[in-house]
Amino acid sequence: MSKLKIAIQKSGRLSEKSLSLLRECGIKIPNGNQKLMTVSSNFPIEILFLRDDDIPQYVEQNVADIGILGENEVWEKNRKVETVRKVGFGNCRLSLAIPKDESYTGISYFNNKKIATTYPKILNDFCRKNGLNVEIEEISGSVEIAPGIGLANGIFDIVSTGSTLLMNGLKEVETIAYSEAVLIKSPDLPEEKQQILDQLLFRIQSVIYSRENKYILLNAPNEAIKQITALLPGMRSPTVLPLAEEGWSSIHSVIKEDDFWSKIDQLKTLGAQGILVIPIEKMII
Ligand code: ATP
Ligand code: ZN
Repeated sequence: MSKLKIAIQKSGRLSEKSLSLLRECGIKIPNGNQKLMTVSSNFPIEILFLRDDDIPQYVEQNVADIGILGENEVWEKNRKVETVRKVGFGNCRLSLAIPKDESYTGISYFNNKKIATTYPKILNDFCRKNGLNVEIEEISGSVEIAPGIGLANGIFDIVSTGSTLLMNGLKEVETIAYSEAVLIKSPDLPEEKQQILDQLLFRIQSVIYSRENKYILLNAPNEAIKQITALLPGMRSPTVLPLAEEGWSSIHSVIKEDDFWSKIDQLKTLGAQGILVIPIEKMII
């Protein structure tokens, strides 16, 4: 039986999270990513550990069938690959930054300036779209030091918290794109491998749902059941069980983690007590 070959980052920000995602999908992977390749013992998948920059090329050339990497690398490399879905981590933004004492006047500031970046294609596309005439200085790393050493007037780079910029006396002035980790696939995946991918995608979906949602249990007076049900619609509708105490029920439902804090006050106002919020291991809708 053929195996699906997945490329993930060998060592870097996405490595651990990519491995954890596969493991949470119930895929057993031997420890240690020192090797170039490893095979799962319970799912027809081979894992290739590569530099993230190389993943689009390998997927295009069918060395790997699918890959997990930052969407920024997919845009930059512009290879013939299909982006299948986001996988729930690796969020960052791609921004322009300039020395913090410069006064910024809008994107025309960059006209006739030199910008250092490891993402020349994304930057060039942006400049063309905005009619900017910019000199792009492509470098392979430590972009943030370029203005300080006189190599460029500004930089275009990945930002997540902004602390690297701050440490290098820079300020972020334009965000050009938001990126996160995605799963890509080769456009000509054989049917047999597509079936394995479909199984994997089903599992990834259930892992991501379970991360985004929580199981919620609470006690409420019976007269509040209707309103609480409207607040916590859950997957189909909440489970309502009578408590031993007359006039009270226990309500069980599923809630989006992001909604929990915004709904908690309403639940309390409606008389909810003893609210428990519990992680969900897997969720299949
Ligand atoms: P490699 O050796 O594999 O080429 P790298 O140095 O290019 O590694 P990392 O710094 O590990 O890559 O980043 C991998 C990806 O993580 C980025 O392409 C981006 O999509 C994402 N990412 C999320 N937050 C950040 C951040 N703060 N800085 C850099 N990348 C980030
Ligand atoms: Zn890289």
